[in-house]
Amino acid sequence: MPHRFFIDEAAEDVVLEGEEFRHARDVLRVGEGTEIVLLDNSGYEYRGIVTKADKKQMSVHVLGREPGTREPKTQVFLLFGFLKSADKNEYIVQKAVELGVTRIGVFASAYSSAYLNENKLARLNKVSKEAAKQCLRSIAPAVVSYPDLESALDAATEENKLFACEFCGGSEVDLAALRGSCAIVVGSEGGFSEEEFALARAKGFAGVSLGRRILRAETAAVALTSVVQFALGELR
Ligand code: SAH
Repeated sequence: MPHRFFIDEAAEDVVLEGEEFRHARDVLRVGEGTEIVLLDNSGYEYRGIVTKADKKQMSVHVLGREPGTREPKTQVFLLFGFLKSADKNEYIVQKAVELGVTRIGVFASAYSSAYLNENKLARLNKVSKEAAKQCLRSIAPAVVSYPDLESALDAATEENKLFACEFCGGSEVDLAALRGSCAIVVGSEGGFSEEEFALARAKGFAGVSLGRRILRAETAAVALTSVVQFALGELR
């Protein structure tokens, strides 16, 4: 399987530089004559051959392009409350990308104390790219941040809007019968407040229960994403 690299823009001849270049050269030992695949987040995959490699960059000649065959058929937007642990935020992003989520948002909420900045967001976008390459997707979902729950909820335009609520006592939708695009909201380790649940319902979200046990935020994010993707036919 040829190695895969993200580029900003496809062309007949592409220059690979920066982080993707260093990863190719230093870690994967890609050199002149190596066949690679370039990804530009359009859904296409570009087969190319390295024609020149020097200290700062590599030139790649594109031989052809094909549409990627592993992108999900349905849009799923995962929104999660930013967690204190960087590892756990990265874990959620990585698993969501593998499970076929198409958009990811992180938000701060009433009971969350974690602080999100540009560096942390850039790191999560890098994790998304790495996960996309590893699971052979051709699009790395963008990770976007929202200053609060309300703006995160407003960003959801999907047909189905699901709000994982640890105290709602039962799901208001039949998850097994889900069809069409979905937005999924999961809280941080502090959970949601009654007011936040009321706000989400007022914005058209349905409360979803993940059972009688309280799951950790990262478990809940992966579990609900999996259930939704199964219902949508992506995990079979
Ligand atoms: N600190 C809270 C738990 C937060 S769990 C408490 O002690 O009650 C973190 C998030 O995971 C929740 O906000 C919710 O979105 C999701 N979650 C965890 N368990 C859940 C369950 N049984 N049903 C629905 N959502 C759940």
